Amino acid sequence: MVIGELLEIGKTLIEGRDYIDPILESILVLSNLLEVDKSYIYIHLDEEVDRETEEKFIHIMEKRSHGYPLQYIFGEWDFMGLPLHVEEGVLIPRPETELMVEYIIEYISKYHRNEDIKVLDIGTGSGAIAISIGKYCPRTRVYGTDMEDIPIRVANINRNRYGLSNVSFYHGNLFEPLEDIGIDGEAQIIVSNPPYIRSEDMSTLQVEVREFEPKSALDGGRDGLDYYRKISIGGKRYLRPGGMLIYEIGYDQGKDVENILREQGFTCISILKDLQGHDRIVLGFLK
Ligand code: GLN
Repeated sequence: MVIGELLEIGKTLIEGRDYIDPILESILVLSNLLEVDKSYIYIHLDEEVDRETEEKFIHIMEKRSHGYPLQYIFGEWDFMGLPLHVEEGVLIPRPETELMVEYIIEYISKYHRNEDIKVLDIGTGSGAIAISIGKYCPRTRVYGTDMEDIPIRVANINRNRYGLSNVSFYHGNLFEPLEDIGIDGEAQIIVSNPPYIRSEDMSTLQVEVREFEPKSALDGGRDGLDYYRKISIGGKRYLRPGGMLIYEIGYDQGKDVENILREQGFTCISILKDLQGHDRIVLGFLK
């Protein structure tokens, strides 16, 4: 079969799904398989494709027709300008999280420019937050934790890809794996993008997220706030006085998370908005 015919099949397979440009996605997948640019595809519509690639392409587009995320198909996604390996079992890095990382990088370069500081990333997933901070702020020492196996393996792949000896990952529940490494009271920043979807809202997420992304990275318990409570309580042991705790939150969780931080004795609490004008980040400082 030639490229043009394959694209037609791909398009037909995924047509009618929400959030999808069927022809563009078919081109993206095929160019990825053939290891050529998108533009190559446009000008070689009559080129013959070998049987194996043809079968792979159709198999992928069938998966895609059930909502399988493109990012898992490619096995790679960009975060803060850094291509990262992603696979099933880790949350796909999202643009709203980049906003939080940009804020942290700016904060470090403003207030801790020439210091060796420690940063903890709780629930690191693909390692996106930890790796981008470690890469762009080379004097930080970053500790990422995750309670699942796959994220720790994936985060290490990404860390090694950028050769970051200042970033390490620890397997275990929240702060547990940090208990015996002797960094109590030493972290300048604790960051987390924890699971924050209310359990009852899990079924309303778009199919790509609901069916294929890890529930353990999304479900934040009955009111979606379980992890904000746990991390705000547990984090105090590891923060320095004046250290910052910073969270990504759901658009309607600003006030609730602010209250949790206040109850735990944090001060100078702020809520920051994303580009759509929704509350997206809450931060506070340990007294
Ligand atoms: N932003 C994610 C979503 O789209 C949620 C991520 C999380 O729970 N931390 O659904």
